Amino acid sequence: MPLFKGLGVPMDKEKIIMHVRGILEAIGEDPDREGLRDTPARVAGMYQEVFASIHLSNEEIARQLDVTFVDELELEEMHEDLVLMKDIGFFSYCEHHIALMYNMKATVAYVPKSKVIGLSKVARAVDMVGKRLQLQERIGSDIAHVLSLILDTEDVAVVVEAEHSCMTTRGIRKPGTRTLTTTFRGRFKTDPDLKNKFYALYK
Ligand SMILES: [Zn+2]
Repeated sequence: MPLFKGLGVPMDKEKIIMHVRGILEAIGEDPDREGLRDTPARVAGMYQEVFASIHLSNEEIARQLDVTFVDELELEEMHEDLVLMKDIGFFSYCEHHIALMYNMKATVAYVPKSKVIGLSKVARAVDMVGKRLQLQERIGSDIAHVLSLILDTEDVAVVVEAEHSCMTTRGIRKPGTRTLTTTFRGRFKTDPDLKNKFYALYK
């Protein structure tokens, strides 16, 4: 799964407004009726928020979050230990339909090498990766990439669970269908004991 490359350009709010108005016309609506008059501007404002990371690369996200704390005394003991953060809630939009992916949860684990990171920073990384047009598989690999850059370790595991509104509200229409994707890197890929330990904690 190729990683996301940031575009480096800010969003064009006026262009979004113009095109949302065009979509309203194209679906047979009257963009000037009272309920819709402010909709293009509202959608543009929402896009600025929910797609706030489109212009950022994974490296830039890692740089923004790179505040780690290391406790020299504890680090020796924790060296072989697994750090796992479970059920971090977030959302994203699928790039195939620009449709919401919801009830999303990420579980993240790593083996600390020289750095550890607080839950709020991990949650922030997950949140930022979600604020792009995404694929569920790429969300997992992007989160793993950002964390491996911040933590300076390849030993990272990410499980993402989600419901996709493009599947639950249209097409096959199976509400409640959850998609689960896993990303295992470094020793999580090569060491079955570590992987088993992860699954035991994940359950
Ligand atoms: Zn979709």
